[in-house]
Amino acid sequence: MLFEDDTPLNLVGIARLAAASDLLEAKRKVQYLELETRRLIGRGSGRMRSIWTINPYRGCEYGCKYCYARYAHEFMELRDPELFERKIFAKHFDAGAFRAEVRSLKLGETVWIGTATDPYQPAERRFEITRRILEVFANERGFDLGITTKSDFVARDADLMARVSRNNRIRVHVTITTLDERLARLLEPRAPRPALRLAAVLKLTDSGVPVSVLAHPVMPLINDSEESLDRVCAAAARNGASSFSAAPLFLKPCSAQVFLPFVEEQFPHLARRYRERFEKSAYLRGHYPEMIAERVERIRVRHGLVQRRAPEAPLSAGSLDDQLELFTSLAKGPGTTATLQRKVNRL
Ligand code: SF4
Repeated sequence: MLFEDDTPLNLVGIARLAAASDLLEAKRKVQYLELETRRLIGRGSGRMRSIWTINPYRGCEYGCKYCYARYAHEFMELRDPELFERKIFAKHFDAGAFRAEVRSLKLGETVWIGTATDPYQPAERRFEITRRILEVFANERGFDLGITTKSDFVARDADLMARVSRNNRIRVHVTITTLDERLARLLEPRAPRPALRLAAVLKLTDSGVPVSVLAHPVMPLINDSEESLDRVCAAAARNGASSFSAAPLFLKPCSAQVFLPFVEEQFPHLARRYRERFEKSAYLRGHYPEMIAERVERIRVRHGLVQRRAPEAPLSAGSLDDQLELFTSLAKGPGTTATLQRKVNRL
């Protein structure tokens, strides 16, 4: 059990399930717990309601300073943002029940794996839930799958993904925010080095699995220079990626409480500007997003990595534009706490 003697009596829903989780394993400061869930597949929200999402884990050991998914732990009454990195919940997986969930979807529907966790974080080596999910899809047909990760461990499943792609569409989105290893270590303390992620891009594309590289989030005066983004895009192209995209940082309260102190500590000269820019809104407004969009467009044209969805086309796991919109819609401020609670319960 997560809370041995002090389980609050008033917990309900996902918080009560989390409190009742069985401890699977503890490593260093990280605990792995098993979480019972009614369904593994949930709905996207807002304009992304037509897509489905799967998050095999809750929490993520990589501990990126800008991570927007920390709010998923708040509803399990785990409000210390660090617990998102140290208490990792592996969702209980039953292949038969999951197959039935998949078969309840319509053919051609889009399913995104890893919208609020990294499906190839260290827990996957031990529990293999993402792999077992893909094994089910390998025996199905007609789905449009997207996978988002920052882990080179994704290459383990290159052959399996190639099998999935025989009867479905699949695309892997690998996030690389910078090629500067020192900066990456600061921003994404326990994620694999950018060079390892690029090696995984090459292995996947060599196996015939299409890969997009996503330099998200773009952080003002940290990783947003044309030179920095260009280097990521050029490396993506060299390693076989077929598209590249990036979008500005947004900071919901759960991520601001980690990211802003981080900026104060590591980039004190930027601290005041960050506080001012994010004081009133989680989103950067005005000229900056347009400037970044133009910069990214120039870069991807330069390297021949242009892959956008036509405005009238259906949402697709293969489109980076749709992926960015999905991230934003999942993290966008809900009208009420109850709305967010429902949204998190679906993750
Ligand atoms: S890899 Fe993704 S889910 Fe994990 S901490 Fe980083 S941003 Fe969050």
